[in-house]
Amino acid sequence: MADLFESAKKQLDRALGHIQISDDAKEILRSPKETIEVSIPVRKDDGSLKVFTGYRVRFNDILGPTKGGIRYHPDVSLEEVKALSFWMTFKCAVVNLPYGGGKGGIIVNPKELSRQELERLSRGFISAIYDFIGPEKDIPAPDVYTNETIMGWMADEYGKIARYHTPAIVTGKPIALGGSLGRGDATARGGYYVIKELVKQKKLKEKSLKVAVQGFGNAGYNIAKLLHDDGYKIIALSDSKGGIVATNGNTLHPDSIMKVKREKGELEGVYCEGSVCDMIDHKKVGHKKVLEEDVDILIPAAIENQITKENASKIKAKIIVELANGPITPEADEILRKKGVIIIPDILANAGGVTVSYFEWLQNKAGEYWELQRVHDKLKERMVNAFKAVSTIQKDKEVSYRTAAYIHAARRLIEAIDAKGTVEYYRGK
Ligand code: NAD
Repeated sequence: MADLFESAKKQLDRALGHIQISDDAKEILRSPKETIEVSIPVRKDDGSLKVFTGYRVRFNDILGPTKGGIRYHPDVSLEEVKALSFWMTFKCAVVNLPYGGGKGGIIVNPKELSRQELERLSRGFISAIYDFIGPEKDIPAPDVYTNETIMGWMADEYGKIARYHTPAIVTGKPIALGGSLGRGDATARGGYYVIKELVKQKKLKEKSLKVAVQGFGNAGYNIAKLLHDDGYKIIALSDSKGGIVATNGNTLHPDSIMKVKREKGELEGVYCEGSVCDMIDHKKVGHKKVLEEDVDILIPAAIENQITKENASKIKAKIIVELANGPITPEADEILRKKGVIIIPDILANAGGVTVSYFEWLQNKAGEYWELQRVHDKLKERMVNAFKAVSTIQKDKEVSYRTAAYIHAARRLIEAIDAKGTVEYYRGK
């Protein structure tokens, strides 16, 4: 993962070629403001002690407190967390949230821990980074392999140490602990609103569009469900264990597949002789093969670096919507651009999650909770506005949607940085 942060910065460099930027702003936008590495000792159920490594990065807080998820994964590294915090900075600016960007992660395979061990680890992490975070400073949320239960433990631990009730410290909590209605599927729903706008803009026929989704967790399952319910044809799905592709004109039913997955208690159950597999004509494929299926819309919703220079030329989709962060490497991005593939970048496509996290934070601070419809309406408004603003830049400057999204976000960040004074100002020019 060593290259991820460098790749992320290349995406910005491309955008900066199209706009005026002061040297000060250029410098500030390249390095994280604060980085912390912590060791988290966890007592295992068998009495032994294991020490885990965790990171939290606050990339930039010029527009507000830093905001970003916490990831539990064996491949977490400081470089990865830096890259993710960099993307969060631009993502919050794309949808005009009063937030900066942050991110956290622990090097762990959560599937190897008991629930009690997972709770101790989650509480231990908050205790370790307590001084680094805060409801007006840095606000964590869920990411890969963390969920609302974990967010609930984290908010509770912070409140215990602080000795006051402070739900606004973490978003993505259970509703009973101050979570927001609509946070569960917010990332996917935000992407869904963007897809609907794009389809309208390109005058495509919704009902005939074929879709493949890589990743069947929070983002992947929910986008598959929303699009399926809307008449899109879900042709291929995958998770870390493998993929399934509907054959003979069939489509996959995300809800039935999720049911089988839950009942079997293991993901493989979905792809073998389970009832869903028996019901639908399908073929089993490797999880990366799903990316190469003959579909109109491809939605990477798993992890980074999935589309690389090795498989980019095999991608058949005309539209890629990045629900995952950083699923396409810069080399692959270039290959796809030359092929004329429309790529809706992560910092726009998956901004729905942080947007509803912002709504949750507002509700916690106000002590007043919103109806689901209000959450959906406000999310839609922000996503559609951001998509339209990015589309206008894309057309005017004849750049990719990715570069347009960076231009849109960078303008907000640069304006705020320069408002504090520039070289020209201090030299009296
Ligand atoms: P999740 O833990 O709920 O699900 C991850 C899914 O990806 C699982 O189904 C897992 O099996 C699958 N997966 C892992 N490695 C894979 C591989 N190599 N091939 C295929 N599938 C694989 O995580 P999530 O919250 O859905 O996050 C997915 C992506 O969306 C991440 O990139 C995350 O950063 C991004 N994202 C999530 C949110 C959010 O609110 N949850 C917000 C913004 C962005």
